Amino acid sequence: MPPISDRTRLIAGATRRGQGRRPVNPPVERASTMLSDDPARMQDASDGPVYGLDGTSAARELRALLAQMEGGTDAFLVPSGLAAVTVPLTALLRPGDEVLTTDAVYGPTRRFLTRHLAARGITARFHPADASTEAVLTAITPRTRLLLIEAPASLTFEIADAPALAAACRERGVLTVMDNTWAAGLAFRPLAHGVDVSVQALTKYVGGHSDLLMGGIAAGAPSVLRAIANTIEDMGWHVSPDDAWLALRGVRTLPLRYEAQARSALTVAQWLKAQPEVADVLYPPLPGSVGHDLWRRDFDGAASLMGVVMKGGDTAAAHAFMRALSLFGMGYSWGGFESLTTHETPQLAHRQHAPDLSGQLLRLHVGLEDPADLIGDLEKGLKAWRALQDSNLQPSA
Ligand SMILES: *Cc1c(COP(=O)(O)O)cnc(C)c1O
Repeated sequence: MPPISDRTRLIAGATRRGQGRRPVNPPVERASTMLSDDPARMQDASDGPVYGLDGTSAARELRALLAQMEGGTDAFLVPSGLAAVTVPLTALLRPGDEVLTTDAVYGPTRRFLTRHLAARGITARFHPADASTEAVLTAITPRTRLLLIEAPASLTFEIADAPALAAACRERGVLTVMDNTWAAGLAFRPLAHGVDVSVQALTKYVGGHSDLLMGGIAAGAPSVLRAIANTIEDMGWHVSPDDAWLALRGVRTLPLRYEAQARSALTVAQWLKAQPEVADVLYPPLPGSVGHDLWRRDFDGAASLMGVVMKGGDTAAAHAFMRALSLFGMGYSWGGFESLTTHETPQLAHRQHAPDLSGQLLRLHVGLEDPADLIGDLEKGLKAWRALQDSNLQPSA
């Protein structure tokens, strides 16, 4: 039998037989205390969770689906996508170790590396976002314990050769952790490509409705899983039953939403690329874009998030563009049903090697709206952008 597709697998768990009459979805079980009938069995995990921190049914089902989707032997839930990055690093690094990552790493991850880990004797080093595989491997030193891969990288969407990096790191005894948020656990399978730990912000596409924060961590090796489980236990992390329930609801429709949003995003990206005000569209599925070749080789799907590099312009023009839109909300995060925009040029100042872009950098997240309507909205944005460019050309009165 061919392997069952994600679309089917993420739903089939809900209709499993042999569990008696029940609702399709598990109830929301809010609990700190779990009661037992027998003092001798109060610690027996085979009777179900012993305490609320062990997670109730929605969280357990979500964990199992996440482990299957990522091809891990187990998966964990933590309170945010950021925690999904910080937990494995905390679990796997020790004072004196070095961690290597891309200069285009997600901003709060960079802050964790340079503030929290640095204060605990762990050094972070950043390779240029467009470094070749050889250049990344050359940056590994005898103290490098872990390579953190994020591909596509935040804001500028460079794609690292994760399979080659994972194989070379394994040979050198360097662990690999990949932030797989853009692929949503669907479009790329880090563990199948030799990466040790795959993490994602379930906040984004799995939640899918901009109403919860959660992170997922999946791994295969027992020693790695044990270290992560211990850290979660030691830190006391937990996700709320209501959030786990919402994320479980989200995961049933994840493949369909993800595919539909990617289709619309490509339509929008192609249109934008043809506009005279736009210098470049950073969207790996778009032929000619940064990351396109490795995306074609390794990914079988795409997020609906892209960078739009304008020709020149300034903050005022970027803000005028954003103000003129009515279908794109102004807000952080992505992966929900709604389209969003942000102005990202100021973020690039945190990098050691600033990318050489020919103008302002905007970020678009394409939601589930009709892409023709989104393009109509973007036309209004470009009109406002042009108006500001034109008025800059007028001699001041
Ligand atoms: C959003 C995001 C996170 C963090 O997710 P939160 O749930 O918002 O903490 C981590 N990594 C990447 C690449 C992200 O885009």
